[in-house]
Amino acid sequence: MPTTALALLNQPSSDAPPHTEELPPFALVDPADPHVRVLDLGVTRGDGVFETISVGSGHPQALEAHLRRFARSAAALELPAPDEQAWNAAVRAAAAAIDPVPEAYVKTILTRGVEGDGRPTGWAYAAPAEDFTAARRDGIRVVLLDRGYRHDVAQTSPWLLQGAKSLSYAVNRAVVREAKRRGADDVVFVSSDGYLLEGSTSNLLLRVGDTLITPGTNLGILPGTTQGDLFAFAAERGLGTDYALLHADDLMAADAAWLVSSVRHAAPIREVDGTPRAIDADFTSALNAFLVARTE
Ligand code: PLP
Repeated sequence: MPTTALALLNQPSSDAPPHTEELPPFALVDPADPHVRVLDLGVTRGDGVFETISVGSGHPQALEAHLRRFARSAAALELPAPDEQAWNAAVRAAAAAIDPVPEAYVKTILTRGVEGDGRPTGWAYAAPAEDFTAARRDGIRVVLLDRGYRHDVAQTSPWLLQGAKSLSYAVNRAVVREAKRRGADDVVFVSSDGYLLEGSTSNLLLRVGDTLITPGTNLGILPGTTQGDLFAFAAERGLGTDYALLHADDLMAADAAWLVSSVRHAAPIREVDGTPRAIDADFTSALNAFLVARTE
């Protein structure tokens, strides 16, 4: 079996112009061959949306939640709606086509397609996950960086696409380089009016007493599938869960804090802007054990 796999969607959306001939929803192809055209708007403009789905022992995790968010992001960019059944099958097929590994991921990409063609492009790519043992165990250092938008940007300026998982992630990469320049590993974005938002590719989660708290999803941030599953995990164990407006002081005062996301899962925050903060090793292990073991 190969290390990586690629499913090319013949039918990426339910409302794109139909193909003239009857085609299966997707085809598994060799990921080493060229497949994307140089004038694809996903490449030339970052005009498209994506998801990264973790795969635990062959099982795509939170797939339905990821595909719902994929559809919401596509709607925000006025892209044709992804064909849910086709994507679900393509993700599962790509995940099943790689060498069995404990942890892998599948990335789904939907672009506006080749300029002038009017048909979206879509693919699902599977590969083994990076080893995040150290980040999960020892924690990460974060810096607080101003995102430059107010906390209500999604309501006042929806055209800025805050809260959509678009392919325009150059900023999300640039902030990690800035974090590294400042001696940290990742960032927590802060709104221009002082509210904690999210990480570069993750959500912020705090534990205060017996309650898990995350910034509200109406702040122009991504509603996280990992955060959603962790709220369900907490509720099952009798812990409270809450969405709140949070400030930097809340991060320092919390009993524990994490950046949570698909693939890296729960990375405890051990330093904020150079100031150490406590991590809860046992609870972190419990969170990650739960996340890694999910079968759906
Ligand atoms: N916020 C941003 C900006 C992200 O890019 C991501 C994931 O990539 C998340 C939050 C976390 O989402 P999830 O838990 O669904 O991976």
